[in-house]
Amino acid sequence: MTQRYDVVIIGMGSAGLTGAQFAARLGVRVAVVERHRVGGDCLWTGCVPSKALLAAGKVAHHFRTADRYGIASVEPAIDRAAVWQGIRDIQHQIAETDDSPEHYRALGVDVVLGDAHIAGPNTVVVGDRTIETRFILIATGSRPAVPEIEGLAEAGYLTSENLFELDEPPSSLVIVGGGPIAVEMAQGCRRLGIAVTLLQKPHRVLPRDEPRLVDQLVGVLRAEGVEVVTDVAIERATIVDGTKVLHGTEGGSPHTWAAAELLIATGRTPNVAGLGLAGAGVKTNARGIEVDAYLRTSVPSIFACGDVAGRHLFTHSAAYEAVRALRTMFFPGKGKADALVPWCTFTDPELAHVGLTAQEAVARHGADDVEVWHHDLEHSDRARADRSAVGGFVIVTHKGRLVGAHVLATAAGETIHELALAISLGADMGDLANMVHVYPTYTTSVGVLAGDAAFAKADRYRWLVRKER
Ligand SMILES: Cc1cc2nc3c(=O)[nH]c(=O)nc-3n(C[C@H](O)[C@H](O)[C@H](O)COP(=O)(O)OP(=O)(O)OC[C@H]3O[C@@H](n4cnc5c(N)ncnc54)[C@H](O)[C@@H]3O)c2cc1C
Repeated sequence: MTQRYDVVIIGMGSAGLTGAQFAARLGVRVAVVERHRVGGDCLWTGCVPSKALLAAGKVAHHFRTADRYGIASVEPAIDRAAVWQGIRDIQHQIAETDDSPEHYRALGVDVVLGDAHIAGPNTVVVGDRTIETRFILIATGSRPAVPEIEGLAEAGYLTSENLFELDEPPSSLVIVGGGPIAVEMAQGCRRLGIAVTLLQKPHRVLPRDEPRLVDQLVGVLRAEGVEVVTDVAIERATIVDGTKVLHGTEGGSPHTWAAAELLIATGRTPNVAGLGLAGAGVKTNARGIEVDAYLRTSVPSIFACGDVAGRHLFTHSAAYEAVRALRTMFFPGKGKADALVPWCTFTDPELAHVGLTAQEAVARHGADDVEVWHHDLEHSDRARADRSAVGGFVIVTHKGRLVGAHVLATAAGETIHELALAISLGADMGDLANMVHVYPTYTTSVGVLAGDAAFAKADRYRWLVRKER
């Protein structure tokens, strides 16, 4: 049986779900194909379980550190199997409500379960079903990239794909990787009583973030007992008396690291295999499917978005890109997908990022016109009152306009939006100073920094001050 649609979306993860919803709102005939679980990486192996794990870890941390508030600290009794089951319960609640196939069918989306294969520029095949369509939107996501390490496959390892499926979480963990996933899991697991060693190949963890804030965050992790090791090269894995051992070097000197389990978090690889891309003429590169600024692939009727397009690997950017791709497909003119994409590592404190780091701004614009403003939370009344005065704000300007902002603070993932909007609107520090910030909040620090900039400007115009004659 052959059916004709306006758009077929492949993948029901963050991009596919938002794309399907938007297409249904536009009143176009839309089908979405999913081969595994509706909800994709974010619901099953990514954002949702990781944030649920961090939330449990935060409660345990409060027990241990309650004496900061004059309340006796206690070492909490943690039932890790129950914590993990609780994470899965949350996933299933979401799967049964907001992310259920029925929910999407009710919106007017045809949900097709099966493995999609692109048989031509306007043809998708799922099992024995052939679907004809004006456009195809590929949103097949990514999966963990596992490095070639001798003996790793034999020793066995965890990734984000199976970490949350465990019935009995391990008592100790060596995490390989130093990106957001590795760092979040290191803190969450440590707070839940798991001994954690984090091994990072480069010199610093979170290399894309503002170094000054990363260093403070690493200090927090170490103080909580996470062993953070950088400059690591791993050569092989073995099992010794049931313990998994990684052999390699730290700063060039031989070293071994042992734990009950290994967690590999060394990046992502796009899900392109089996889609029939080469046959359809869709070009790929190491990051995934090649797309232009409008999310168009090398085939005019085929678009790609989300992790598989390899631009930004976040839920919010995947959803945004899906909407922009559909906008270009169905509306006159074209809509670039060029919005500024902020991100956040959801440790405690959270580390949020938008735009350029200080170093990137200097590299792009030269040192002369770049200014870097920082405010440490040890000067924030609110952070002190909350007993969480570790962190700060870094704002980067070029010729006075904001080009980057970085926040290490409680709920930095919320705070960053004001700064992202300021950058998007081309605002300067004066504009931020004119936005009166509620006291006492964490963003009072933004007001303080903007106030400092306004005072500095006022200094230059002191000669204009009207004095009494
Ligand atoms: C541990 C972890 C924590 C994370 N935390 C965050 C966070 O806090 N915030 C954030 O923004 N991002 C986070 N991410 C990243 C986020 O999960 C991804 O960027 C996002 O889910 C990508 O969405 P997507 O739609 O591109 O792909 P996916 O969500 O992976 O969806 C792709 C879907 O396509 C399906 N599929 C693949 N091939 C086919 C085929 N041939 N036929 C049919 N279906 C197919 C897959 O089964 C899958 O359901 C995290 C990731 C991990 C691993």
